[in-house]
Amino acid sequence: MKDKLGTIPRIIPNMSDYDAFCSQFSWEKEYESLDGLPEGGINIAHEAVDRHANSDIRDTVAIRWIRKDQSFEDITYADLKLRTSRFANVLEKLKIKKGDSVFSLTGRIPLLYVAALGTLKTGAIFCPMFSVFGPEPAFQRLSKGKAKVLVTTTKLYEKTIKQLLDRLPFLQTILLVDAERHRNDKVWSLSVLMNEVTDEYTIKNTQPEDPALLHFTSGTTGMPKGALHVHKAVLTHFVTGKYVLDFHPGDVFWCTADPGWVTGTSYGIIAPLVNGVTNIIDEEEFDAARWYSILEEHRVNIWYTSPTAIRRLMRMDLKPLESYNLSTLRLIHSVGEPLQVEEVVWGKKTFGMPICDNWWQTETGGIMISNYASMEVRPGSMGKPLPGIEAAIGTIEGEKIQLLTKPLEQGHLLLKSGWPSMFRAYLDEEERYKKCFKGEWYLTGDLAKKDADGYYWFVGRADDIIKTSGHMVGPFEVESALMEHPAVAEAAIIGKPNAMIGELVKAFVVLEPRFEADEMTKLDIKGFSRKKLGPAIAPKEIEFIDSLPKTKSGKILRRLLKARELGLPEGDTSTLE
Ligand code: ATP
Ligand code: MG
Repeated sequence: MKDKLGTIPRIIPNMSDYDAFCSQFSWEKEYESLDGLPEGGINIAHEAVDRHANSDIRDTVAIRWIRKDQSFEDITYADLKLRTSRFANVLEKLKIKKGDSVFSLTGRIPLLYVAALGTLKTGAIFCPMFSVFGPEPAFQRLSKGKAKVLVTTTKLYEKTIKQLLDRLPFLQTILLVDAERHRNDKVWSLSVLMNEVTDEYTIKNTQPEDPALLHFTSGTTGMPKGALHVHKAVLTHFVTGKYVLDFHPGDVFWCTADPGWVTGTSYGIIAPLVNGVTNIIDEEEFDAARWYSILEEHRVNIWYTSPTAIRRLMRMDLKPLESYNLSTLRLIHSVGEPLQVEEVVWGKKTFGMPICDNWWQTETGGIMISNYASMEVRPGSMGKPLPGIEAAIGTIEGEKIQLLTKPLEQGHLLLKSGWPSMFRAYLDEEERYKKCFKGEWYLTGDLAKKDADGYYWFVGRADDIIKTSGHMVGPFEVESALMEHPAVAEAAIIGKPNAMIGELVKAFVVLEPRFEADEMTKLDIKGFSRKKLGPAIAPKEIEFIDSLPKTKSGKILRRLLKARELGLPEGDTSTLE
């Protein structure tokens, strides 16, 4: 294979020809690769754990958990089966039934993963929360999801949960992962309970449409929504693991996301396990040197991370190929925010391979548009739809959808509804859910365009689009151009209401440390962006800012910048970092 920017070397990908593969792809055929339950149902935990524990990869490491001090613990598929069965038996003992919800609020420790998969075995719904949520965001989620059981640590219980108990009438049991004995009839020691039950459990005969996972969106555009997913979603996890992340037997995979965000569950738990590879879990937060040493020491083959993390690594400029042996690494993927041209190119320069962008949402449950190991990477593009997914660009007028077919026409990104991991509800928001669908199309809320070769290009969120002097301006285009200026480390743009031109494009800029926040720099950036973008689209106002407000999952909160600029209420800030 050619080793140029664009083609990933060293192994024959599971999907070696995108077009040929798409033309013969069928979900039904892929479904046959899954095991299914003896009584005919399907269960995520069975596909991810038990079927491997009963096969010749039973002794393969399923989870390698790296502690904060960088020592590690291995859990094989056989062992994971026993531990998750024990957890399922604990839930049985607590009389948790199919459809009840089990939440977690812990750091990335093995019991979180055991709880997630053990819950799925019982047919109950699992909802992982990010451990840094304070009382209010935790309350919102626990009450909306009617949590019956919460798995947490003593410290987080004391700090975050205890004060909420009066307001959570549904919450029956709190399981403390680190307590040596039970506290009272509500707060129990998980390890004591785990020791009282057996490690034999018959997985409930869950059906494809039975609810399995509840994930809250990132809250970038407003109040986080609770998206409900079903057991059949495992088919998307299997297919994307195999053909996007290109899992091969023996692979070691590391997804850096926390299970509190959908990426950290779909890809930090399910996809690698369903495909029988080894899943790395790091207990610690971002640290450039640590991350490179993990890639080296654990011989990571496929690495899935985010543009925010990539930008932080770029700023450190540690030249990893000179200091670390990263020869096992063959594929890097990124999701969550637009991946800029500069970042893809940096990947090539730094790791010897371009970083593959992919696009999806909490609502889609899995990767929908992606760059692939066998396909030319076009820096700045999200890639092409997953085989089995029909995407389109269209305009929405009332109840009517008009598909746009000319190359590079900008419009709403649409997906033909009905893929396996499509969300089945927004919790308690039936009307809102219905509004996401028009006819056979799901409206993603994002704007994009498609080029003549079928590559998709992200334009922005429909809510963030700026209408200025008759132009529709997507933040991505302007922010990318600004970031090419040497002084700009990060940028976010908003539209400010303006009587003359509708909205005025304003940029918030974080400077590289060696540049002065003065008028000269401002003028220089303005001139640079005018030359690149033209005067109609280039920012008319620039403000320097120390850091951009972001969600805990690393997304720029443009709505907050706008509210602050206009002196309006800040709205929901539960996911603000
Ligand atoms: P909320 O729906 O609560 O406002 P959110 O949309 O940020 O929050 P997520 O479901 O976590 O919540 O994020 C999905 C969104 O992230 C997408 O709709 C898109 O706007 C953005 N996104 C994800 N991947 C990419 C990508 N590769 N390029 C550009 N944008 C992306
Ligand atoms: Mg969204």
